[in-house]
Amino acid sequence: MKNTPFENIQKRIDSAAQILKLDSHITKLLLTPENIVEKTLEVETSKGKKSFPAYRVQFNNARGPYKGGIRFHHEADLDEVSALAAGMAIKCSVVGIPLGGAKGGVTINPKEYTEADLEQVSRAFAREMAPYLGVDKDIPAPDVYTNGQTMAWMLDEYEKVIGKNEPGMITGKPIVLGGSLGRDTATAQGGVYVLHTYLEKVEGGVKPKKIVIQGLGNAGGVAAEILHKAGHSIIGVSDSTGGVWSDAGFDPALVMKNKEEGKKLGEGLKLNSVTNEELLLLPCDVLVVAALDNQLREDNAGQVKAKIVLELANGPTTPEADKIFESKGIVVIPDVLANAGGVTVSYFEWVQNRQQYYWSLTEVQEKLKVIMVDSLHEVMNYQKKYMSSLRGAAYLLAVHRLYEAMRLRGRK
Ligand code: GLU
Repeated sequence: MKNTPFENIQKRIDSAAQILKLDSHITKLLLTPENIVEKTLEVETSKGKKSFPAYRVQFNNARGPYKGGIRFHHEADLDEVSALAAGMAIKCSVVGIPLGGAKGGVTINPKEYTEADLEQVSRAFAREMAPYLGVDKDIPAPDVYTNGQTMAWMLDEYEKVIGKNEPGMITGKPIVLGGSLGRDTATAQGGVYVLHTYLEKVEGGVKPKKIVIQGLGNAGGVAAEILHKAGHSIIGVSDSTGGVWSDAGFDPALVMKNKEEGKKLGEGLKLNSVTNEELLLLPCDVLVVAALDNQLREDNAGQVKAKIVLELANGPTTPEADKIFESKGIVVIPDVLANAGGVTVSYFEWVQNRQQYYWSLTEVQEKLKVIMVDSLHEVMNYQKKYMSSLRGAAYLLAVHRLYEAMRLRGRK
């Protein structure tokens, strides 16, 4: 039997704790969610009355209030949400922002419902979860198939419940409601800062690369645009319907335009079609995985031809695939570092909401760059010291910080 996503991340945390020789009582606490909230959302939809299971897993708040997105997905369940919540605690710790880890999920296929239905689901979530949320308690954000509009509905409903304004209770908001400039591009931008810094460190500079990107949502779509503008050759992209590629490279904006217009991805363009599975195996320098978890596994990792895997999605690589990549010398820039730009600008948004003073886009991007570059350097120091993979090093750094916060608080 394969491990579940939550078991996988528990193993990663536990093995970091073993290497660091941490106290076993505190380690046990660090492996366990602090609070699990499970609700059923009863919503009057266009398809009649429906019930949707909803979760908020508050994993760890030793380093700061719980923080993490909410996903709307038909496969969202307690195990997956727990794994993602633990991932948030690790991620915030890797980049050293003063926030803990949490995640939320609603088991729903959002594609089957209208905008008005999704508004009701979002409001029901905020109402049911209101006692557990708050600017100093637990701060949600967007994740898979949720966005600024979702956050706006949730904020509005939450403020109705508490009877006052509290914009800092949720991040990833539209700008007019107190969102931060640069939040929408932050996940991709942060990933590109890390990739470029890594290339500078190991190759002495950033030369144009051939890049394949799985996923054209908020992370992958923006990354395609930034990487193309930076002079790299985008040779393959895909979304949930399939992919397109051309070894000569193409402007991803053309493909995005098709997507926005509701056309087939490569329609009218001279590109070859591929399935999502084939796309991952295309020869390239950098493979950006920006879709869902569990994409690079024991059964396909051996055929991956990329030299670097940049994880903009959460949990795209299984531990078995990690081992295969290590043996083949494929470098994985792990999710907890590569996609941490999103939560980092969420942190900036929260800071701006609290001080009610807003920064320019340049200010946000400069601050983001400092955090991403410094974090990569720190992870690489751990990598050298413990002779581990980048993922192993990121976990060592994060677990060490989380452990110290728990120990100093006297948690045992
Ligand atoms: N959902 C994003 C993530 O997985 C952002 C979380 C946040 O901004 O709190 O990192």
